[in-house]
Amino acid sequence: MTERVRADEGHHDNSVSRRAFMHRGLSAGALLFAPAALGRGMPHEVSKPLRSVATRVPTDPFTLGVASGEPTADGIVLWTRLAPEPLADDGLGGMAHHSVAVDWQLAEDPGFRRPVRTGTEHTDPATAHSVHVEVDGLAPAREYWYRFRVGHYQSPVGRTRTAPAATSLAPLFFASSSCAHWEHGYFTVYRHIANAAPDVIFCLGDYYYEGGPHYDPPLSAIVRTHVGRRCRSLSDYRRRHAQYKTDPDLQAAHAVAPWLVVPDDHEVENNWAGDHAYRPKDAHRFLTMRTAAYQAYWEHMPLRRASQPVGSHMQLFRTAKWGALATFHLLDTRQFRDAQACAGGEMPLCSPSRKETRTMLGAAQEAWLADGLTRSRARWDVLAQQVMFCSTARDFNGQGAMVPPDTVNVDCWDGYPAARDRLLSNVRAANLRNFAVLTGDVHNHWAADIPGLIDGLPMGAELVTSSVTSRGDGEPEPRWVPAAQRRHPNLHYWDGRRGWIAGHLTAERLRADYHVVQRVSTPFWPDSVAASFEMADGLPGLRRI
Ligand code: FE
Ligand code: CA
Repeated sequence: MTERVRADEGHHDNSVSRRAFMHRGLSAGALLFAPAALGRGMPHEVSKPLRSVATRVPTDPFTLGVASGEPTADGIVLWTRLAPEPLADDGLGGMAHHSVAVDWQLAEDPGFRRPVRTGTEHTDPATAHSVHVEVDGLAPAREYWYRFRVGHYQSPVGRTRTAPAATSLAPLFFASSSCAHWEHGYFTVYRHIANAAPDVIFCLGDYYYEGGPHYDPPLSAIVRTHVGRRCRSLSDYRRRHAQYKTDPDLQAAHAVAPWLVVPDDHEVENNWAGDHAYRPKDAHRFLTMRTAAYQAYWEHMPLRRASQPVGSHMQLFRTAKWGALATFHLLDTRQFRDAQACAGGEMPLCSPSRKETRTMLGAAQEAWLADGLTRSRARWDVLAQQVMFCSTARDFNGQGAMVPPDTVNVDCWDGYPAARDRLLSNVRAANLRNFAVLTGDVHNHWAADIPGLIDGLPMGAELVTSSVTSRGDGEPEPRWVPAAQRRHPNLHYWDGRRGWIAGHLTAERLRADYHVVQRVSTPFWPDSVAASFEMADGLPGLRRI
């Protein structure tokens, strides 16, 4: 049993870094764009107006906060979206159907005394008045601060940073997160991530959930209700994104560091695969839904124009380099996969086909990844992806009853064993120095060694982060977990509480701290580290520390 703590204890976290403190102290203040600070002699970027341009909006348009993402050694994407009425029925956030001029500013200090870049973007109702500024020409391994302005309204201040130079082995502190269900709990985990102020935050999917109000309730309480119906139109998806983005804890996490994001299934609908809906009812309209969902996802995420969807397709697999220390291969395990095995069956009660042609990534992405791994000279090669990679095949269900042998969750890599084997062969052939996989989706923490295909010896480590809120407060261990662990000794650790992973990567080691919160059904629960694992350079496999 856990002891109830006072509601305000979550605020007193002595691990709060100086940087986070500085950020929070300043973002609350009313910093003004000082005309004198708007860079005499500084580069000034002005994009072409799309339509008539307004400089005024009726009320504060910065209700969705600010964000940054896609850091490189010399660039970053800055994001905001104007939405004076974020939940407006038409999905346009209370904005009119004409373009609005948005000024932005990037500085070397949180007080904006040393501005380095300024510019003006013109919003477009066709992209929901979102703003994606791609800034380049910046210095490597540097912190920057940014803000936006429309008329006399000013956005909160965001902190961001660039990646180190190509030869750098400077350490990286990253956070790994996934699966934030609005109704299932408060986004306390995001607040703790914001307080920790990592260099980069990964969101590995299920950034929001598409279901209607009170669909799929958790064992603990429904703490707040989804706006609108089950998402299927562009305005549905836009409103859902906007509702989530009104959360102050999520806003704090976006404002503290650049994000690297990959969507999973719930950004469109549960368990979809390739061009196939999971719900038979949605089969005829699935690509229309995906087109709308991808459009809204791009509009609301700090992504580059290169990821802007074209029809029902979105370019999501990509590489993010952190100096010579790490190359992150961000995967798209939804858009190109074959339909799940045993379609129509109860999801976990199935033994999938080993048919060689079944694919998880699709041929083009598989080839791209094999090539990227072969070319990589990074100290650490890390896959940032959605669904569990290591096998949890078992002979027991959640109640401990016998089920057919090799029963798996067919939505995970276990459902695509031939594709997993091919990926592991490519990893082996690439002769990587160190290999790790970051995963979300399954709403539990796992720490696992990745067993080699032939000898079963560890090839690397899989770090699976639990959900931010999905499934509500911590769950008791289902009886298949110990059964799976007995069968798969590489599965070192399981935790059914909500949480996130703090990853500390250096030239010498990868350390993963598994953070948990006891409850998300009440706000402000404190953060604690339930377990820590380490993988040393050149020694594949995890060691508990
Ligand atoms: Fe999820
Ligand atoms: Ca998922």
